[in-house]
Amino acid sequence: MQGLSDLRVIRPLLEKYGFRFSKALGQNFLVDGSVCPKIASLCGAAETGNVLEIGPGIGVLTYELARKAQRVAAVELDRRLFPLLSETLSDCPNVRLIEGDAMKMDLRALLSEQFGGERAVVCANLPYYITSPLIMRLLEERLPVDAVTVMVQKEAAERLCTEPGTRASGAVSAAVRYFSEPEILFRVGRGSFYPSPKVDSAVIRLRLLEKPAVFVEDEGMFFRVVRAAFAQRRKTAVNSVSNTLGMRKEAVREAFLAAGISENARAESLRLEDFAALGAALQRERNGAENETESAECHR
Ligand code: SAM
Repeated sequence: MQGLSDLRVIRPLLEKYGFRFSKALGQNFLVDGSVCPKIASLCGAAETGNVLEIGPGIGVLTYELARKAQRVAAVELDRRLFPLLSETLSDCPNVRLIEGDAMKMDLRALLSEQFGGERAVVCANLPYYITSPLIMRLLEERLPVDAVTVMVQKEAAERLCTEPGTRASGAVSAAVRYFSEPEILFRVGRGSFYPSPKVDSAVIRLRLLEKPAVFVEDEGMFFRVVRAAFAQRRKTAVNSVSNTLGMRKEAVREAFLAAGISENARAESLRLEDFAALGAALQRERNGAENETESAECHR
C-alpha cells in the first residue's frame, strides 16, 4: 500500500485495527516520505536481492524494500501488527512476514530457510533498546550477510561508527570496526517519526568485511581486552584492564610495553592494531605466569 508515511493514511489504519503504540517495543513509525526510499536504495537490496528486515511496524520500509529486492523476510515481534501488515503489504507477494523476537531467533537458520543459502542484507529501523546487542549479534555470528543498514539514535550512530583511537570511541566502536566498514549515511530528525521520540536519529550502514580488519590469534582474548580497557574509562587502560581482568598490574604494564603502548594510555586512544597487539602480549603474560606456577609446583 502506498502512502504509509502519510498520517492521513496511518491514523485511520491504526484505528481500524484498534492498534495502540507500545513504548516498550520502541514503536516510533516513520512518517517522512523521503526516508524509506533512501534507505531501500542505499542498503544494497537491489544488488543482493535478499533482505532481512527487523521490525516492519506497519510496513512503510518493507514496502520500499519489496520494490527493490527480489525477496524480503520481515521479522516482527508484535503479533497485533500482523492483520494490519496483511493489508498494507497485500500487493507485495515477495514479502514473507515472520513472527518472532529477532534477539532470540536462530538468524542463521532463518536466513537459510528464507534465502536458500544466498547472501542477504539486513535492514531495520530498530527499537533503541536492542540496537547494540542486535548489531553485535549480526556481526559476531558471521552470518551470510553483506551489509547491515539500520536507523539508530544519533548518539549511538556516532559511537558505532567512530574510529577506535578517537575520543568518542568505545568497546562497541572497536568491535564494529573489527568486523565491518561503518558509515553514517544521513541524519533523520525526531519529527520524522510518529509518535515523535525525544532524540534525533541517523541511518548507518555497516559493510561486512570478508576477514576481520586486524589479525588476532585469540578472538576471545581480543574482545576481553577491548571490553576491559573501556570498563573504567576514567582510569588508565593499564588500571582498567588489570582491575577488570583481575591480573597483576605489573604484568599488565609489561604487556602494554611489549605491545608498544604507553602505560599511561587511555582506552579511547588505542587503535584496533593496539588492541590486537595487547591481546597477544597479555596472552603471553598469562601463559608465562601459568608456566611459572606449573614449574614451581613440580619443584615442590
Ligand atoms: N519499520 C517501521 C518503521 O520504520 O516505521 C517500525 C519501526 S519501530 C522503531 C520498531 C519495530 O520493531 C516495531 O514494529 C516493534 O514492534 C518491532 N520490534 C521491537 N522489538 C523487536 C524484536 N525484538 N524483534 C522483532 N521486532 C521487534
